[in-house]
Amino acid sequence: MRFDLITIFPEFFAGPFDHGILRRARETGLVEVNVQDLRAFTKDRHRTVDDRPFGGGEGMVLKPEPLFEAVESLLGRSAGGAAEPRAHEPKTAIVLMSAAGRLFDQEMARRYAQLERMIFICGRYEGVDERVAEHLATEEISIGNFVLSGGELPAMLVIDAVTRLIPGALGNEASSQNESFSVILGDAANSTQARAHDAAPPQAETDDAQGRAPCDLDGTNQMLLDFPHYTRPAEYRGWSVPDVLIGGNHAEVARWRRAAAAEKTRRNRPDLLGRE
Ligand code: SAH
Repeated sequence: MRFDLITIFPEFFAGPFDHGILRRARETGLVEVNVQDLRAFTKDRHRTVDDRPFGGGEGMVLKPEPLFEAVESLLGRSAGGAAEPRAHEPKTAIVLMSAAGRLFDQEMARRYAQLERMIFICGRYEGVDERVAEHLATEEISIGNFVLSGGELPAMLVIDAVTRLIPGALGNEASSQNESFSVILGDAANSTQARAHDAAPPQAETDDAQGRAPCDLDGTNQMLLDFPHYTRPAEYRGWSVPDVLIGGNHAEVARWRRAAAAEKTRRNRPDLLGRE
């Protein structure tokens, strides 16, 4: 996967990609990160990237020309115009970071992880000329219901979420199938192995009937948060790790984890329940 970032603050990206999973993914060649200075695509002496909004109002808006030309230089082809239909590379996404975009989620991260290239346009000021959203970007996405001062942090966040889903990026391949926002298949209610989105059918366990947890999910598929994790010491400041996790009974551990995940989801994210 190749990630390109178009920004007026290229130095912003020194550091965040140099640690942990992202660093390893870059070192092993799984991902490549390339930062483009938007001002390199200006033509005037002042390297102007913004201008006042038509219709009046506060703030400045990123002009279309440098953004179109930056993307065109990355793609090595024209991005078209009103008179010419734009071409699409099926394995490339041109992503405009925008508070007014579609909300980014794990499902989108999974879809993006299958691409070969993602080009991110990082907005600043009041945002970007709408023709960028309409005719240059293939997606306009928001990372949450709040307004930040630029698209750089949002783009990093998307790159992080996508990279860890690229096969080979995580040390343990199973771990990205077994975490928050995976769909749990209801017909294998006991098994944490049942977390799957597009994986093979889960192996049903034999003691399914008794295994249903109190807030259990009556055979429907559910999107759950991760289950709580514990490590040593088994007792810390008087707080103990649940006995079942220490007991060594794998079926019981799986059952407990599922129930705890369902409970935590109900407490912190009830909106996820009933959704798949
Ligand atoms: N006037 C805009 C906010 C502009 S903030 C509005 O009210 O919607 C400046 C830039 O920060 C945006 O162009 C976008 O690139 C980025 N940004 C701000 N909040 C964001 C969010 N929640 N998700 C993604 N990008 C965001």
